[in-house]
Amino acid sequence: MLIPPSHPRYLSLLIRERLVEGFRRGIVVPEGLIAHGRGEAFDYILGERTWPPALRAVEAAAATLLLARNPVISVNGNTGALVAEDIISLAREVNARIEVNLFHRTREREERIRDLLLSLGADEVLGVGEDASATIPELMSERRRVSPRGILVADVVLVPLEDGDRTEALVRMGKKVVAIDINPFSRTAQKANITIVDNVVRAMPNLVRKCAEFKKLSRGDLENIIREYNNKKIIQEIVKIIWDRLAEIAGGGVE
Ligand code: ATP
Repeated sequence: MLIPPSHPRYLSLLIRERLVEGFRRGIVVPEGLIAHGRGEAFDYILGERTWPPALRAVEAAAATLLLARNPVISVNGNTGALVAEDIISLAREVNARIEVNLFHRTREREERIRDLLLSLGADEVLGVGEDASATIPELMSERRRVSPRGILVADVVLVPLEDGDRTEALVRMGKKVVAIDINPFSRTAQKANITIVDNVVRAMPNLVRKCAEFKKLSRGDLENIIREYNNKKIIQEIVKIIWDRLAEIAGGGVE
């Protein structure tokens, strides 16, 4: 589809097209398209831009990933379709493993996502087929399967777009969870240790840049950034931004 660059929703429509293309290639499932619609609604309300609290969360996320012993980036269909290149760049920057982790798991889709990442230069992609032989306790069905070399032994897991149950389960397993979720009310956003409330297409490049920049910092500096970070406050600030924007549009009608 040809979208004129002058269209007011140009970028948003381009992202949609990328997901639809991912759907046609068997990488994205229909449920992923619906989840994206929810994300779009929040992005619309937030003015389709990155707000300062999201950038502070990116800094804490970068420090956490750089200090991690076994960081893992969890990839699902939507993130594969939208930010595959950034996932590979980030894995290089912080020496992280990449693991396919799907809500709607089929062997075919796992392999398609793996092949996409490998074709773009990923060294290795975990969590495909028999490799996903370990399980996350308390989760049912296919959603519980993880790689014993990846998420199972990770100390930090980056989940760009994750469902609430799995986020909670990972936190209960003692892992530090860094989430990217444009919906500050989702259970994932509320339960993660660090929540970047932004569209994944903006958050991932920001995170890659920040990791490259923070590599020059000392361990002590990185630890300070994490110590001073308060996720609850960051989410409250984002909700306040939504509140203020609604109040402005409502003409001061929201008290
Ligand atoms: P909860 O975390 O409350 O259980 P959920 O499991 O119902 O939420 P999903 O349907 O799995 O949520 O959707 C994943 C989340 O990802 C949604 O909160 C949605 O707002 C968010 N999301 C979708 N697309 C994007 C995007 N492009 N960038 C950032 N976040 C997105």
